Amino acid sequence: MQNFVHNEALERKLEFHRSKGRTIGFVPTMGALHAGHLKLVRASMKKCDVTVCSIFVNPTQFNDPKDLQKYPRNLERDKALLKETGLQIIFAPGIREIYPKNLDTTVHIDLAGLDKTLEGAFRPGHFEGVVQVVKRLLDIVRPDVLFMGQKDFQQFTIIRHLINTLKLRVQLEVIPTEREAGGLAMSSRNERLTREFRKKAEVIFETLTYLKSSLGTKPISNIRDEALKKITSAGLKPEYIELVDGHTLQPVNVPVIHHYIVGLIAAWAGDIRLIDNMILKE
Ligand code: AMP
Repeated sequence: MQNFVHNEALERKLEFHRSKGRTIGFVPTMGALHAGHLKLVRASMKKCDVTVCSIFVNPTQFNDPKDLQKYPRNLERDKALLKETGLQIIFAPGIREIYPKNLDTTVHIDLAGLDKTLEGAFRPGHFEGVVQVVKRLLDIVRPDVLFMGQKDFQQFTIIRHLINTLKLRVQLEVIPTEREAGGLAMSSRNERLTREFRKKAEVIFETLTYLKSSLGTKPISNIRDEALKKITSAGLKPEYIELVDGHTLQPVNVPVIHHYIVGLIAAWAGDIRLIDNMILKE
């Protein structure tokens, strides 16, 4: 079988560690690293013998070419930050390494509708791109443990579905969201927020906290309406506010019959789109 990993140095390093019986942890990122990413890296370094962090801005998951173009990139700074953590392997592949011309990297699995709601409804094709790149990276790195952030709740839910469907031999670890002092979830996109919107965007975390404290005290529709008002009156434009079952991502109407409920918000702060979530019941 042809081996499409052209990065022989990476392959050699990983083979060496595997031959010594070492476990490999993997943290895929799109760079522009912040404390949230570094938390994943540290969690991997704690649990696994060797950690690989990839930096690859994946074009196939951007439905808006302008968003792809504007995505912050700073490889030298990222490398310096990763070196400070003591991380062993940085993998920053080029586009042809991930998507060789002679290889079909599309993943043909049914995502059970998980990709159609929430982010999927507003970013058509986004999760096909995410599944494609994560599967490809897993094929190259072949880690024992994959680390992902709770910040992208729908993303890790879909990747868990991918792992279960294809029976991939990798364990998924989800790491809680790292936040700034005012509650704003750390994100590479925050760099592009004006100081004013950075402050205003704290309303997202406040609203998630409100969803959590209100769940079960009044009808879901009232909770959502009030949450929408909070976001709007703070000067953000909400795209969605949903309370869903954490397994199926389908809307919850009667909270008592669900064991696992998550609140998710997407909102525009000026021209920056932010997402965040909180587990409301588990
Ligand atoms: P990205 O570079 O945005 O694709 O993110 C790479 C990984 O870091 C994903 O698994 C994200 O869920 C995770 N991540 C992003 N932001 C945070 C955060 N604030 N806290 C924890 N993990 C995060």
